[in-house]
Amino acid sequence: MAGLYFHIPFCKQACHYCDFHFSTDISTRHELCTALVRELVLQKDYLSEEINTIYLGGGTPSLLNREELDILFAAIRTHFTLAPHAEITLEANPDDLTKEKLDAARAIGINRLSIGIQSFDDNLLKYLNRVHDANGARRSLKNVREAGFNNISIDLIYAIPGLSQKIWEETLQEALHFLPEHISSYGLTIEERTVFGNWSKRGKLRPMDEENSAQQFEMLTDMLLQAGYAHYEISNFCKPGFYSRHNSSYWKQSPYLGIGPSAHSYNGDSRQFNIRNNASYIRSINEGIIPFEREVLSRENKINEYVLTTLRTEWGCDLSFLKRHLDDDLLHRRGDYLAQLQQNGLVTIENGIILLSRKGKLLADKITEELMVSE
Ligand code: SF4
Repeated sequence: MAGLYFHIPFCKQACHYCDFHFSTDISTRHELCTALVRELVLQKDYLSEEINTIYLGGGTPSLLNREELDILFAAIRTHFTLAPHAEITLEANPDDLTKEKLDAARAIGINRLSIGIQSFDDNLLKYLNRVHDANGARRSLKNVREAGFNNISIDLIYAIPGLSQKIWEETLQEALHFLPEHISSYGLTIEERTVFGNWSKRGKLRPMDEENSAQQFEMLTDMLLQAGYAHYEISNFCKPGFYSRHNSSYWKQSPYLGIGPSAHSYNGDSRQFNIRNNASYIRSINEGIIPFEREVLSRENKINEYVLTTLRTEWGCDLSFLKRHLDDDLLHRRGDYLAQLQQNGLVTIENGIILLSRKGKLLADKITEELMVSE
């Protein structure tokens, strides 16, 4: 099982918190789409397995029109074998989800939407510099159901400065009202090379303190569990059977090929990172050269990646996998620390699987760091 990821590096405007790779200059959009297809052909032998998931991320892939989607999917179907019932996700901003766009997406085989709602509060949406407003978010969720999509995920952000517990509760209530099959929710992090990073440096923005942020995470978990969602990864919740197959394959070390500027690829032994610049990417691809850097993964890298990704999920960190595949005896290496975590109710270890408890999830980064090996 393998995954295909496309990075569509354009956005209508820059959200104040975002440090993904994108450009608000969309004049090279057509050239970029042509380059994506060329890269797809150049990389067609990277994966030997059939494609189980496709994910169009970005940036804002919902900016692509029918013609651009057609070109991309024709190339995928020509050069790769798609598994029957492959999960095909389009990341979308609410303002793009018109009836016409949704019909085009369905016709092309897209069967899952991941919608960047972020909030239902107009003041917060403005503060984040999102391009849509709350009514636009509501309208889009109505449109996607009317268009027949029955697998949608919505993104919500908490720990935004100024987000009160009351507004967060109302946000979650409203989100649940739309019965999304999947919810991804991340606490706002202030990244250096963003408007918020700049404001923070100048004292114009104060990040939410840890206590309030933890309370919002707790509220998120309580309300979603009560509404019947499984908390299958620290930031991801789903109705039974609706976990993101694409993202889960990242957490389960399946191989994937990333196409486009800044996209990553992984084949079990190495990672590749495409250049983060649209013009340089297009130029290089037009010369027949994929502009990437490769990192060959050492045994230590592999152990750390395994611990980092699996500990965040409901499937947990499998001690026997570490021993069998990476010759790492984690119980022996960090036995005292793990015993301490168990005593404090932060992890459980059953049948050789380490799982974070609810309390442990709040300290996931710290615990993971302690269980890693030095590289
Ligand atoms: S729309 Fe998405 S990718 Fe674009 S700036 Fe906003 S958060 Fe970043």
